[in-house]
Amino acid sequence: MKNFGLDIWGDNNFIINDNTININYASKPSLIQITKEIREQGYKGPLLLRFPHLIKKQISNLFKSFEKAKEEFNYKGSFQAVFPLKVNQFPNFVESLVDISKEYNYGLEAGSKAELIIAMSKTPMGLPITVNGFKDKEMISLCFIATKMGHNITITIEGLGELETIMQVKDELEIYETTALVPKIGMRIRLHSTGIGTWAKSGGYSSKFGLTSTELLEAYDLLKSNDMLNSLWMIHFHIGSQMSDISPLKKALREAGNIYAELKKRGAYALGAINIGGGLAVEYSQHEGKTERNYSLQEFANDVVFLMQEIAKSKGVDEPDIFTESGRYISASHSVLIAPVLELFSQEYNEKGLRLKDKNPPLIEELNDLYSSICPKHAHEYLHDALDHMESLFTLFDLGYIDLEDRSNAEILVNLIIKKAIFLLSDEDTDELKRIQERIQERYLVNFSAFQSLPDFWGLAQHFPIMPLDKLDEKPTNPATIWDITCDSDGEIEFNNQLPIYLHNIEIDKDEYFLAFFLTGAYQEVLGMKHNLFTHPTEAVIEFNDNQEYSIKNIIEAQNLIDVLDDLDYDTHKINKALKEQIENSSFIKSDEKKALLDKLYLYLSENSYLKTIQAIER
Ligand SMILES: *Cc1c(COP(=O)(O)O)cnc(C)c1O
Repeated sequence: MKNFGLDIWGDNNFIINDNTININYASKPSLIQITKEIREQGYKGPLLLRFPHLIKKQISNLFKSFEKAKEEFNYKGSFQAVFPLKVNQFPNFVESLVDISKEYNYGLEAGSKAELIIAMSKTPMGLPITVNGFKDKEMISLCFIATKMGHNITITIEGLGELETIMQVKDELEIYETTALVPKIGMRIRLHSTGIGTWAKSGGYSSKFGLTSTELLEAYDLLKSNDMLNSLWMIHFHIGSQMSDISPLKKALREAGNIYAELKKRGAYALGAINIGGGLAVEYSQHEGKTERNYSLQEFANDVVFLMQEIAKSKGVDEPDIFTESGRYISASHSVLIAPVLELFSQEYNEKGLRLKDKNPPLIEELNDLYSSICPKHAHEYLHDALDHMESLFTLFDLGYIDLEDRSNAEILVNLIIKKAIFLLSDEDTDELKRIQERIQERYLVNFSAFQSLPDFWGLAQHFPIMPLDKLDEKPTNPATIWDITCDSDGEIEFNNQLPIYLHNIEIDKDEYFLAFFLTGAYQEVLGMKHNLFTHPTEAVIEFNDNQEYSIKNIIEAQNLIDVLDDLDYDTHKINKALKEQIENSSFIKSDEKKALLDKLYLYLSENSYLKTIQAIER
């Protein structure tokens, strides 16, 4: 695995310089420099770094690709896009997004009341806001209020009931307003075609969402009879996230395009837009031959524009405006989670651990010779010999012929021989090598929670690119398993010889070693759970000024212990009081010690759950 697959997943966002991973932008600072700078300010534990320039890059790429496709096909409709808030609602993300995207007329999509409030308060007036998901009367009233404020709202109805509610709200408003300002109406269609991959069920006839053709016709009639056809302006579908293949999208586009054209011909004169939802995939793979998508953004844009044009032409209707709601594609790359390695397990296998005697059993002597003389030419042969010897030595131990020290020497020597053989044979990729790697894997205990920071790894086995921040001039030779700090065996990224990760051999009491988890900006934050009460990590925004220099902004520290308990609705006054009383009443504490102990306790309560110290080292 050269460069940790950076050329596969990195999209030129990062670059290796001076043995460290650097941001490939402006002054190209290294991630380790930024990390150390933040840690020097006293923030320990995992860090989530956000890079607004990468949000801007994705938005700009999206718009550029569609503008290019429009030009190529001479497409008449406009291209517009909104960001679906469910993918990332965190203020440091959303505020950066809104700030850098103004020039693109880029809006927000809301799928719940709380998201709608974010959209209403953060979207500049006039930029599109689409409102999807199941809605009650209150949510629809909020859409009317937003429209009255001047917002450009489109309500996408998921069922006929919502349309009836829209009419009810309108009627009620018209009791004291002459004519209510009705938001634009979109209709989510229930596609016959299904998506692909994990989220395929967002589309298809049994999908949770959308109107069947029968319901579409009823909705049309209802709008017509209420003289509201002027509000019907969008057709919407979404075939599911992380589309690995483009062909299901093409089928869906044909289906949706024809529905658009049919409704238009029927008399939906205000209908002018088709919203193709999200689904644009992100390349998370760091292993050759295991890539997750088979199309480029330009191909995606070309297909959408071409197909819409073709359908409009053949049915003789105007080319619709095209909306997208890509979330993953826009936000995944903007954040990097950086977590310190706390400890390595199985490090006992080093030369220092050997307890060789003046006179060792012959097989141990032989292992020792193999270890000191192994070379590329004989690596395979020596490896086999070593594995054989180990079996024999274990048998000898069971029969009582060698002692515990001999057995320990055998384990260490064989482990060292395997490591050396792998190092010497590193250009080979044989099954045998892969198999033995599992025997010498190293466990890296890392100061983060997979449940909190990589929930899709836990729930869906989604792979996220992982690499260390430095030592990139040294070949990493340890097949690695990554352990998080939760007390849950699921909090482990196991060494997988199909998708192997190798990390460096380090002496953690001498050397700091950080791992970075990339592409964590989509879905991972709000889906993250507080298992064991590990909360959202400390985050910071990294911005670049006109002189290419970076600055660290908007640091939000991980929640402190007492706030975490408060969130669970504990009465924190009672907790404080109980702790205080226990100190007051303890017969083990002398009265002149009480104040110092209490101060210490309160200090700990004001800090977060992540680990700070292992074996007296600050991490
Ligand atoms: C989730 C969702 C999206 C975003 O999908 P991505 O795959 O993240 O681009 C867009 N539209 C709708 C309706 C959604 O539910």
